[in-house]
Amino acid sequence: MDFAAALDVAIDHLESLKRQGCKTVMVDRVLLSELLAPPVSHSPAPSTPSSVPSGTPPARVPTSLTSTPRASSGTGVVTEVSASNKNMKGGPGSASFALDREGKEKAMAVLREKILACVQCPHLVASRKNVVFGVGSIHSPLMFVGEAPGADEDVQGEPFVGAAGQLLTKMISAMGLTRQDVFIANVLKCRPDTPGQTSGNRKPRPEEMRTCLPHLREQIRLIQPRVIVALGATAVEGLFGRASVQITKLRGQWTQLEGVDVMPTYHPSYVLRTQSLPIKREVWEDLLQVMQRLEMPISAKQAAYFTKA
Ligand code: SF4
Repeated sequence: MDFAAALDVAIDHLESLKRQGCKTVMVDRVLLSELLAPPVSHSPAPSTPSSVPSGTPPARVPTSLTSTPRASSGTGVVTEVSASNKNMKGGPGSASFALDREGKEKAMAVLREKILACVQCPHLVASRKNVVFGVGSIHSPLMFVGEAPGADEDVQGEPFVGAAGQLLTKMISAMGLTRQDVFIANVLKCRPDTPGQTSGNRKPRPEEMRTCLPHLREQIRLIQPRVIVALGATAVEGLFGRASVQITKLRGQWTQLEGVDVMPTYHPSYVLRTQSLPIKREVWEDLLQVMQRLEMPISAKQAAYFTKA
């Protein structure tokens, strides 16, 4: 993300916190001194290596805002890696400030209430059984994002609990983690309706994902993960507002969203449908990249998963 985009994210996040009743944020000493320093001239940031373009609004404040390390040891630093983060390194993403643990939990509780009460899509409100907010650790550096709840998720109010969800749980387990160590969410928080059908799910429409995306973005801004795994083409389309993507071309390629590294990969339901060893290996290689990015230890056994039937 370039500087101007990062600044807009920061401003949006601060305004969101203010609306949620937050009156203070803690900032580390180094960053504070940089913020108080006179502005310096700003050169255009290099373009993102991402294959998914991001906007380039004009810059408004010094570049020093983006130079803060992901986690600092300075007094007053409020970012921290949860004890439940196991071997994952790195706390928040690139945002230059963070709430303390309690403030984050309070802000997320407020956001949860807001999302659970959302009625922006009347057709989905009429058919949903639950709003599927997301599940897991809001202090995790790792998020998994899918497209939308299906029938099972709608009933249970939790993402990825059907057959595809069970496979996702196994994938997370193969990484040496549990569902409680990561945060799992969807772009769309309500199940896409299926009028006239008694079973089956449908793909969320672009306009539905556009309407709901601000909810996910607020979750991302609060959680500040270091890595997001985008599960499937529709999730990538929803996350980046793209009309259509070829997941076969994007998977395995790092991109960025709001300063957070994003790894697109296949949706677990596609892996289930194909039952192909090479596809399983490709997904696993994507997750190995995620583990490397999070500086997680990788055993020889893990490195060799899905190399033979
Ligand atoms: S899908 Fe999202 S935006 Fe639409 S009603 Fe549900 S929570 Fe609100």
